[in-house]
Amino acid sequence: MNRYEILELLRLPPDSPEIAALWEQARGVTDSVFGKTVFQRGVVEFSSFCRKNCHYCGLRNANSQLHRFRLAEDDVLSAAAVGASLGVGTIVLQAGEDTALDPYVVGSLITQIKDQHAVAVTLSLGDYDEDTYTYWRDCGADRYLLKVETTDAALHGQYRPGQKVSERMRRIETLQKLGFETGSGLITGLPGRLPHMVVEDILLLSSLGLDMIACGPFVPHPQTPLGGYPAGSVQEALTVNAIVRLLNPKAHIPATSALDALVPEGRILGLHAGANVVMPSITPESVRKSYAIYPGKNVSVTSIAATVRGLQERISKVGYFVSDARGGKEFFSSPKM
Ligand code: SAH
Ligand code: SF4
Repeated sequence: MNRYEILELLRLPPDSPEIAALWEQARGVTDSVFGKTVFQRGVVEFSSFCRKNCHYCGLRNANSQLHRFRLAEDDVLSAAAVGASLGVGTIVLQAGEDTALDPYVVGSLITQIKDQHAVAVTLSLGDYDEDTYTYWRDCGADRYLLKVETTDAALHGQYRPGQKVSERMRRIETLQKLGFETGSGLITGLPGRLPHMVVEDILLLSSLGLDMIACGPFVPHPQTPLGGYPAGSVQEALTVNAIVRLLNPKAHIPATSALDALVPEGRILGLHAGANVVMPSITPESVRKSYAIYPGKNVSVTSIAATVRGLQERISKVGYFVSDARGGKEFFSSPKM
């Protein structure tokens, strides 16, 4: 698929039959690689403190209205244990860029989770130096998710003040060099992003040999500079995911939680358009709502178990198979598959 064909797909009206056919084609590719299997990544969101000021995100440092929390080590370990007991094969440790975060505590969490459960551990902690990434990898972390958000240099610099897209790309390269199964991705529908920029985003991401590509729609948060802009369209997010699938048949692609924040059963639509992964929050109920990256995230007030089981049931009901496997690179070397 060349850049003109991608551009044409992105310019199709939402209700055109070509869009439905594209999603179906992407699902067909996913079926041929992963069958109907859906892997689960349980996300423990353990700190809502952040030193950064990304214009789209509710955790941004300047948001004085947000209740900030930092989970104790034992609470992170209990959440991971609940996730593992529910058949979640990957535990994701995610947080804002908390200046009080001690890399050794993260290292100890990684080691303990890996010792106690047969799971993969993914980190989603943002920008750190190579030594820190190396240390976490040595502690046993399997994967790292670092979304580039937008590859357009001007937009990136505008929405991530003080940050350069080239630095983010270099970090992704470093993570790959260190042997992390590496994920990146986009926020689709960010204000000011034109279709030709999305084409470049898709092509650049697809050239990196990533293990995971996560593209979720922008959801405006009222306490941020982008709060007054419209949400990204669900249709565009699904179309981007479908194109990404066609270009990256073996990548793990999540049906992002942001889809669910915009439409009912958004994540199911994501699976129908070619995704093969879901990432339920397994953050303890007491703080889950305070991890308010965008409105509609973590709205479920039930227990971790009820949230995860509810999602598993919704997925099974529409014909997919919820797997308890780690579902990373090893998927491709496993004899049973
Ligand atoms: N601090 C880390 C990880 C937590 S943020 C980091 O930034 O990498 C996790 C993800 O939330 C970000 O990568 C971004 O893609 C997403 N996000 C933030 N604000 C959002 C919004 N308003 N709408 C949709 N996704 C958003
Ligand atoms: Fe912080 Fe990540 Fe939100 Fe940026 S996207 S403000 S780094 S939590």
